[in-house]
Amino acid sequence: MRKTQQRTAILEEIRKRKDHPTAYDIYHTVREFLPNISLGTVYRNLEMLSREGIIRSVDTGGEQKRFDADTTDHPHFRCLSCGRVDDLPPDLMKQTLNAAGKNLGDRVVCGVNLEYVGLCRECAARQRFLKERDN
Ligand SMILES: [Zn+2]
Ligand SMILES: [Zn+2]
Repeated sequence: MRKTQQRTAILEEIRKRKDHPTAYDIYHTVREFLPNISLGTVYRNLEMLSREGIIRSVDTGGEQKRFDADTTDHPHFRCLSCGRVDDLPPDLMKQTLNAAGKNLGDRVVCGVNLEYVGLCRECAARQRFLKERDN
């Protein structure tokens, strides 16, 4: 019963978020109403949910594994400064898939892991990146 409750809380939390949280991010929120939960439990549940295909883990070059409640194919943008991961329009992925299909000969392409990296809006603004670029 307790296990089900933990799993449900973790799943609900990840479905609420668009920022591709790490296990720690989820733990930080969920322990507010499940004070006895451990980081290990959160991590194991996230691993299990992604093995079952209910959520997915994001293939990023980032240091910490991030999780996504959206299991459809879509590209990500990872900020090299703060580490946040945002969704990008699926069209970008379709274009890449089409291009790949033309160039990969008789291989069978089933999907693509596409990650753009750079600076998110907030970090770019902070570093005056946009201002300098537009000058
Ligand atoms: Zn950032
Ligand atoms: Zn995503």
